[in-house]
Amino acid sequence: MTFKARLDWVTGLTWVLCTCTGVAANAEPVPCNTPLIFVDTEDKELHRRVCDIAGSALPVLEQCLLKLVDPVTISFSGELGNPDELCFGLYHQGDEWIELLEPKAFEQAHTDSKSWAALPAAEHFDAIVVHEFTHALVDQTALVERACSADEEYIAYAMQLSTLPDSARDALIAASGVSQPVPVESINQVMFGLSPVSFAVRSWLHFQEPENGCGFVKKIIRGEATLWIGPE
Ligand SMILES: [Zn+2]
Repeated sequence: MTFKARLDWVTGLTWVLCTCTGVAANAEPVPCNTPLIFVDTEDKELHRRVCDIAGSALPVLEQCLLKLVDPVTISFSGELGNPDELCFGLYHQGDEWIELLEPKAFEQAHTDSKSWAALPAAEHFDAIVVHEFTHALVDQTALVERACSADEEYIAYAMQLSTLPDSARDALIAASGVSQPVPVESINQVMFGLSPVSFAVRSWLHFQEPENGCGFVKKIIRGEATLWIGPE
């Protein structure tokens, strides 16, 4: 089955991809100290914070062969997604452009979203930066198109939870109710549609097993492993 056919099948089955037809940012993005990362905000503190998070995530991502090779711009919006499918952040594939909910809107969305309430809002915001930045690097460096969005999201959530403080991650895992061990078959696009938090926790618990980790991520980006379930 082609990637497009798989995507159609999955989309028709259970879930809607978080998409957005946003407009390009107005202000000139300001470069971070880390080369190739630009943040579009006049808020100096927010600029510094987002630059620091993305820059600090780079060594973690590079261990999994995820490299920053093209410029990425991060901008902010007061609204992302739609009332049925709220997004904390979006990566516009092919455009090297990440949109994040601006901090005030993010805090409100975080409060409204009961599923992520186990995380402090500030740590959740930082983790979303890592999540979307990971999508950008996967897009830039993967050798093949991923077979399904579950493959993409596995990597993004594994990196997102890897960069959380231990106490925050433990609280999220406890609140999710996911029990261990996590069979890889339970990490799939259907689970993602049913509960992104459960998918996120399952992804990280699978990723942190010594036999998986970056080795499994590398298999996904080489096209040697997939979380795809459905017709071949
Ligand atoms: Zn994602």
